[in-house]
Amino acid sequence: MSPTVPRIVMKFGGTSVADLDRIRAVAEKVRKQVEAGCEVAVVVSAMSGVTNRLVGYCRDLSPQHDEREYDTVVATGEQVTSGLLAIALQKLGINARSWLGWQIPLRTDDAHGKARIVSIDGANLIDSMQAGQVPVVAGFQGIGPDGRITTLGRGGSDTSAVALAAALKADRCDIYTDVDGIYTTDPRIVTKARKLDKITYEEMLELASVGAKVLQTRSVELAMKERVRVQVLSSFTDGPAPSEGHLPGSLVVDEDEIVEQEQVAGIAYSRDEAKISVRQLPDRPGIAAAVFGPLADANVNVDMIVQSTGDDGMTNMTFTIGKTDLARAISVLESHRDAIQFTELQTDDGVVKISVVGVGMRSHAGVASTMFRTLAERNINVQVISTSEIKVSVLIAAEYTELAVRALHTAYGLDAA
Ligand code: ADP
Ligand code: ASP
Ligand code: MG
Repeated sequence: MSPTVPRIVMKFGGTSVADLDRIRAVAEKVRKQVEAGCEVAVVVSAMSGVTNRLVGYCRDLSPQHDEREYDTVVATGEQVTSGLLAIALQKLGINARSWLGWQIPLRTDDAHGKARIVSIDGANLIDSMQAGQVPVVAGFQGIGPDGRITTLGRGGSDTSAVALAAALKADRCDIYTDVDGIYTTDPRIVTKARKLDKITYEEMLELASVGAKVLQTRSVELAMKERVRVQVLSSFTDGPAPSEGHLPGSLVVDEDEIVEQEQVAGIAYSRDEAKISVRQLPDRPGIAAAVFGPLADANVNVDMIVQSTGDDGMTNMTFTIGKTDLARAISVLESHRDAIQFTELQTDDGVVKISVVGVGMRSHAGVASTMFRTLAERNINVQVISTSEIKVSVLIAAEYTELAVRALHTAYGLDAA
């Protein structure tokens, strides 16, 4: 019997395919893998800046646009790149063709603008690969139950790639980007950030969900569920030559693959939050339901919550929501003013959520207190706190983002030597 051929999904993000030179460089990277004897399927993002421009067109025409038409517009970015990369590969003598979401088909639910993948029929792509062809798949897009084009939410090409790797039973999903791996925090704001050879699914999932944009949250969720080996690496450099058991980038793995567990694996920040304080409400049973019920009905996700109680039978409720939901949340609360009986509504979108994440927190006390002490020493006021088993998050004024992340990075001993 012939040995099985390794099968790899290679995904290239926006900066990796930003112009024709970059697309040629990507084609070279794909060629190397093909020449190394792998079966390769490629997933591409739109060229850098294109999706933002397309989103802007829709918003400028109508802030309340039809999400189905938004998907029709924004999915075009990936269509362009898939065709261009197929041409660049053909120019190198490699048999390649482009695939759009509906051609595969990659089926999603009907949540236009943030659709979830329901199923992928991998048969066509497997046939194509086994016939020696390289499929170049347009990321970020699929086809909904209504037969119309859907998109998977910003950053969704990561999820396309992981889902495809699962459907094709690939040995690995390589996510090529503009940094050479997953770091202890965003290397663009902390120069002392340290590259991690490995990180657990759980930690990466938590980091992504609190703002580390290097992988879309759903892609990590899916990788964890389907046991897809995900590597993050640079499309700009070659990195160290891959040797036995050592890859050039960072690998997302199971907890038992990590030998030495740090207390804190990483730090993330999110500028996408806004804070609302509903002030002077009657402190009575059912008051939280009165505030959060209508918000949930209006599809506003609430994240951190703190309730402070005064002596006078009144209370204040402070919480965070996504910045893009702020206007909607205010109008929902105002329209329920009589039922909730609050006196005042205060809002603030100049806030940032900083989170420290690590599975080591389960067995180490003191992670939260180190965080509070470090911020206090820098005179940074903590406005709201929330915790989970492997995470502590605080809300602070946005102007302190870099200062706070750097100070915490040092405090937890994460700085590179
Ligand atoms: P792509 O266009 O390739 O999908 P993204 O911009 O979505 O790339 O993700 C890569 C970026 O993620 C990096 O440029 C980096 O600034 C940011 N980032 C945030 N947190 C981290 C982290 N912990 N490790 C690595 N990169 C991070
Ligand atoms: N082009 C899409 C975006 O910018 C999807 C992606 O790149 O992952 O969000
Ligand atoms: Mg991305």
